[in-house]
Amino acid sequence: MTEQMQRYSVIEDKRKREIVLLRGRGCVYKKCTFCDYYLDSCKDEAANFAINKAALDKVSGMYGDLEVINSGSVFELDSTTLDYINTLGKAKGINTLHFEAHYLYRNQIPTLREKFRDFDLKMKLGLETFDYNLRENVLRKGIAESNPQVIADGFDEVNLLFGLSGQSVESMQRDMRLALDYFERVCVNIMCDNTTAVKPDEKVIGEFMQHIYPKYIDNQRVDILVNNTDFGVGD
Ligand code: SF4
Repeated sequence: MTEQMQRYSVIEDKRKREIVLLRGRGCVYKKCTFCDYYLDSCKDEAANFAINKAALDKVSGMYGDLEVINSGSVFELDSTTLDYINTLGKAKGINTLHFEAHYLYRNQIPTLREKFRDFDLKMKLGLETFDYNLRENVLRKGIAESNPQVIADGFDEVNLLFGLSGQSVESMQRDMRLALDYFERVCVNIMCDNTTAVKPDEKVIGEFMQHIYPKYIDNQRVDILVNNTDFGVGD
């Protein structure tokens, strides 16, 4: 991960919005076996704010809708960055703000909603799958809950991860159905090769492309990222 990476983009598909990839102090969890995103982090809050301000200053408010991601949870952003998002969002006419958070932060979400009460706040959960065994015993996501309604409580949107050994057309279809039942919007990520031991399963990806992708590609509540840079941020 480098400081030259693309940190601002515009999503022109479906729910049109601007998106920024900010830098935080680092994922507090770091145990997900498939993830190395948390490498984009730094303990130096002043340096983070400088990077974050540069990305945020590109936001025009063109769609009144801004998604903020940060290779971890919004709660790992420094307070100066959060205050800047708040001030800038109002100045640019942003109505809707999207943030991501790990499940372990769920009890802090009401306080965040209060801080950002001038916006329609959409909290996105990195769930990856409703399949408890795959999620907790293989991916080690750290969400010790199997009831979809309880999982969704406090969150509005969800990330799913497909293209893993152990998944099938049936399991991915079930994930899609539950995600659309319990969340407003769903973001499907296809597993990409990274520095972890979890590798993409090309057979499962092929099944996804053949059976799941065509069913949801035109669904306005579903974003599908075949490559993890499809939102235009990252490297
Ligand atoms: S997926 Fe999210 S919570 Fe898990 S280690 Fe990566 S950044 Fe942390």
